[in-house]
Amino acid sequence: MAAELTPMMRQYLALKREIPEGAILMFRLGDFYEMFAEDAVTASPILGATLTKRNGMPMCGVPYHALDSYLAKLIKAGKTAALCDQVEDPKTAKGLVRREITRIVTPGTVTEDGLLDETVNNYVAAVSGLSVALLDLPTGEFLVETLPDAAKFAEAIQRYSPAEVIVSAEADDPPPSGAVVTRADAWTFSPDAACECLTRHFGVTSLDGFGIAGASGAASAAGALLYYVSTTLRHSVKHVRRIKKVEAGDSLVLDPSTIRHLQIVPYGDVKKEATLLGVLDATKTPMGARTLRQWLLVPLARTGPIVARHDAVAAYVGDRAALLSTRQMLSSVRDMERLVQKVDARRANPRDLVALAASLRPVGELSSACLVGSIRERLVPEPELLDLLERAVAPDPPALMADGGFIRGGFDSDLDELRNLAQDGRKALVEYQTREQERTGISKLKIRHVSTFGFLIEVPKGSVSQVPADYERRQTLTTGERYVTAELREFERKVLGAQSRAVALEQEIFSRLLDAIALRSASIQSTANAVGELDAVMSFADRALAAGYVRPEIDDSSVLQIEDGRHPVIEQLPDAEPFVPNSTSMDRETCQIMLITGPNMAGKSTYIRQVATIAIMAQAGSFVPCSRMRLGCLDRVFTRIGAGDDLARGRSTFLVEMQETANILNNATGRSLVVLDEIGRGTSTFDGISIAWSVAEYLHGNSKSRPKTLFATHYHELADLADVLPRVKNFTVKVKEEAGRIVFLRRIVPGVAEKSFGIHVAAMAGLPQEVVTRARQILENLEANDMDVTQQAKAVRRPRKKLSEFPGQMTFF
Ligand code: ADP
Ligand code: MG
Repeated sequence: MAAELTPMMRQYLALKREIPEGAILMFRLGDFYEMFAEDAVTASPILGATLTKRNGMPMCGVPYHALDSYLAKLIKAGKTAALCDQVEDPKTAKGLVRREITRIVTPGTVTEDGLLDETVNNYVAAVSGLSVALLDLPTGEFLVETLPDAAKFAEAIQRYSPAEVIVSAEADDPPPSGAVVTRADAWTFSPDAACECLTRHFGVTSLDGFGIAGASGAASAAGALLYYVSTTLRHSVKHVRRIKKVEAGDSLVLDPSTIRHLQIVPYGDVKKEATLLGVLDATKTPMGARTLRQWLLVPLARTGPIVARHDAVAAYVGDRAALLSTRQMLSSVRDMERLVQKVDARRANPRDLVALAASLRPVGELSSACLVGSIRERLVPEPELLDLLERAVAPDPPALMADGGFIRGGFDSDLDELRNLAQDGRKALVEYQTREQERTGISKLKIRHVSTFGFLIEVPKGSVSQVPADYERRQTLTTGERYVTAELREFERKVLGAQSRAVALEQEIFSRLLDAIALRSASIQSTANAVGELDAVMSFADRALAAGYVRPEIDDSSVLQIEDGRHPVIEQLPDAEPFVPNSTSMDRETCQIMLITGPNMAGKSTYIRQVATIAIMAQAGSFVPCSRMRLGCLDRVFTRIGAGDDLARGRSTFLVEMQETANILNNATGRSLVVLDEIGRGTSTFDGISIAWSVAEYLHGNSKSRPKTLFATHYHELADLADVLPRVKNFTVKVKEEAGRIVFLRRIVPGVAEKSFGIHVAAMAGLPQEVVTRARQILENLEANDMDVTQQAKAVRRPRKKLSEFPGQMTFF
């Protein structure tokens, strides 16, 4: 069987054995990437490429210059693609061109432009024990974090939401996160191998400098990850220059459900405009967009760094002219981080260098105008490199390098000479044509370039008899004959020779340019990082000015005070009612738990989310929507949104609600902020009130923690808690009753909701009049029958009675 295979097919099958099972081999053949056999059958519908057959073998192909968009389709369909390229010049190769697997692209290791949302990180992760390592390949960001327990570990994986998770072949499944799970050889996770891989890559003798112990889960995960990406998948990782160890306690922890509930960033069908990111993002560069997003998802948790960020924002809020001019300078900056990665991987094209030059051009000015010292010192201009790029690269070069034309004239004298030769040659050819027309008297004689023959003289049929003796016939056409002469051969040698030597020289010059950039790439990367921070700071400043935010005061107290706070997203909604501001004043001693009662639709949920959102903004470094704020640093924000309010996600069962509540009760500390919205709604009224009551008691009485808690409920019975628990304070949202109708005033005031107003809301919603009237009758009946709600609420704290003893059962009908 093997004997019947062509040499190329044998080469193909050998390469196929080198790649992971299920990966689609894209085999470079001339100007195409071809797929064969089963790969072709799988890929052709995904790629929209026609399936053909050669010698009974199915095949399909895509043009190499459009590879990016085809790769995107394969990855989106959940496939892995192995790229096989020609690694020697087909022109000079003897026999079969050598081919190698150059890169294997998986969902976590995509770097192609246009495949990724450049405002979001695309992580590939590896897990070992309770450690997770994460790499964003396009930017080179490399993180490692070790979590204290399994629950926090699972939470961290969800929070980072990697596209792909690598796990040892011998380990348990990683926690679910929606990522593609890839099994890697167990030995790559062993402490020796992992540590060796890392120390070799970073050129260090130990990992101490990164704060990572050699024989730790962190080192295993990071080492195995680097091995997987660089060796298994053969990606360039030169631009990965450090590991950042994420320390517990440095950042404000937002679990995934909190990020969803508070709509910090878009997810599912929540659009960006409806999120905090949508309101705060006025960044100009991809680095800035990624930085800002990261700041919101992982805010700070220590006073010093938060204050430093506010200082930076304040500098620009106080100097509008600087803000305006600096933002202007950023307009020409492109995705420097990813450009550097492309240079390091030697996949940059001439247009990338133009983009890099455009990005480097304003750095000098940005640096001297920068108002933030810690950012200024990291904005390093590259005058020599910039000058080189500006002199060398043509201003509007072609995307493809095959035909040349991307190196500027005047940059290299050899290149200029070759180009002149080619140019002169072409001119001389035209002159030669005229001369020959005159000599032979054939006015229709033409010199043509024919791809398989080169330059030929074409003579129409009627004039063939006039052809001189020195013409050698090469080709007969229906319309005439084509000839060659010695002189023409000489021209051809000059023109074509000069042309192709010029292109080769351009490519050589280009390659030297890449070397020159690579020497500076570490510095450019750090500049890019600083540009991202500056951009994010200015985005905060810009939004603070536009939306009237103020600088929050941050300290280590336990205070949370907001004067006239507004919900940053809702106040911006185009056709919402005018937003009514509300204040907040909480601490651990007097007002630890705010219990907010009030009818449905009054504004309870909006208020409690608003407080949490403002706190997150403050710790992310932003200014805040209120007239004054003082905040003792928080360590975590927890939210639990009751079943009825979370139906949109369709997964909200009472059990999930209770699991999330358990998580809060077990993990909240004295520095946490807890937001409970309609807890206990997912079950019967008595169950619900009882659970809500005991949860509040626990949060109040647990002296270790005592987290500040915002508790919204439509069970106004719970207001009795304040009678027995000193740090619980009652609040309600003011409503006005007008002729049986209810008007929402949106003001949070001390006190208790008088009643539920459920029937009023039902009437407003357009329930048939009969139903509303009947409901009123039933309610009057119930209330007349000694429905003392106070008693009822207190009863749940006494030893359990039979349910029938409680008022509120409908048995009396
Ligand atoms: P509840 O949780 O009490 O049922 P919501 O918080 O869901 O009420 O608010 C109901 C509606 O009122 C929402 O559409 C919201 O936009 C609007 N709203 C809430 N608070 C305010 C406010 N302070 N100013 C203006 N509109 C508000
Ligand atoms: Mg609500």
